[in-house]
Amino acid sequence: MVFTKGKAISVQSNGDGCKVSFRDLILDEETSLNADLVVLATGQVPNAGVELDAWTQVTTEADGGSAEAKQRATEMQKVSVLNLNYRQGPDLPQFKYGFADSHFICFPYETRRTGIYAAGPVRRPMDMPQATEDATGAALKAIQAIENASLGRAAHPRSGDLSFPQVRLEGCTQCKRCTVECPFGAIDEDEKRFPVFNEQRCRRCGTCMGACPVRVISFENYSVDTVGSQIKSIDMPDEFSEKPRILILACENDAYPALDMAGLSRTVYSAFVRIIPVRCLGSVNTIWITDALNSGYDGVMMMGCKKGDDYQCHFVKGSELAHYRMSKIGDTLTQLGLEPERVVTQEVAITDNQRVVTLINDYVAQITELGMSPMKGFN
Ligand code: SF4
Ligand code: SF4
Repeated sequence: MVFTKGKAISVQSNGDGCKVSFRDLILDEETSLNADLVVLATGQVPNAGVELDAWTQVTTEADGGSAEAKQRATEMQKVSVLNLNYRQGPDLPQFKYGFADSHFICFPYETRRTGIYAAGPVRRPMDMPQATEDATGAALKAIQAIENASLGRAAHPRSGDLSFPQVRLEGCTQCKRCTVECPFGAIDEDEKRFPVFNEQRCRRCGTCMGACPVRVISFENYSVDTVGSQIKSIDMPDEFSEKPRILILACENDAYPALDMAGLSRTVYSAFVRIIPVRCLGSVNTIWITDALNSGYDGVMMMGCKKGDDYQCHFVKGSELAHYRMSKIGDTLTQLGLEPERVVTQEVAITDNQRVVTLINDYVAQITELGMSPMKGFN
């Protein structure tokens, strides 16, 4: 038996066997070996159906009157695997290479279409024994979802939650931000372009609440007002006390448990911070930030999960949306005469119980150097 690492050049028959020519990547030279058998690794091509970005582009062009786009939309519909009735398209949102999108650590089976569980090579490349085990996991998740649904509860990830988003339509400006930003396609539009919430699809993440510029979306047990009241009820040292006050909005999924662990292990961090847990950074409405700064807080730090292609946000887009929204409030800060450093977002994992302490202490030092907020004492 010979183990080597190389790049194949050719395979030619050679008597009863074959001759494999290759470039040896360790010795960096071309060589060949006689072999009885050549086994090729087969690539796996995922099929999670229609790619939704392409679908959106084609249907938008078709709505604009393009006959060619209408034809392509019809062809796409034919290759759809699931034929779902979602405004975002008929199949599952996918990763870059075509596998069904799901949280790879905490919710590997839960696709972004509530009640649909992916298993096997729809999710990632795997062999038969792995796929069998995977299917067991997905089936158990489906059973759990049915049981929760029969009790009127959210299936996941906020298991046991009984409240749904409610919208005060008389204040709605039909801006569509909630419809576009909902990571699970749970919001449709009626003929007047008002949002229509689909409770069966909703996962109670609060992203719609964070997105709404006129703040007309809320939950019975979580709203712009409830968190806003918590922010305002925190004791604010006056401008002469030399004590900064810093607000931390921590995602309840990973950041808050990491802070909890830091506390349990009796790690000391600055006493100038006050921490409020939020469902997801996607639920953070920018009014909380501007209200906090107006009330005299010297800095606001948001702690959420990792964003990007290998995201760890339990609600897929929450961290990304928070970063995006905060990148847009620079003008508001300037109008208030505040430095952009007074609002920061940090990515935190549940295991970061020591790192969160460093993040807090470093930020407090930075704010102390920056000086007290000029807004202090105005309220
Ligand atoms: S709470 Fe989350 S899942 Fe439900 S409608 Fe709002 S954004 Fe969509
Ligand atoms: S984000 Fe708010 S204002 Fe915009 S459509 Fe949704 S409910 Fe209406």
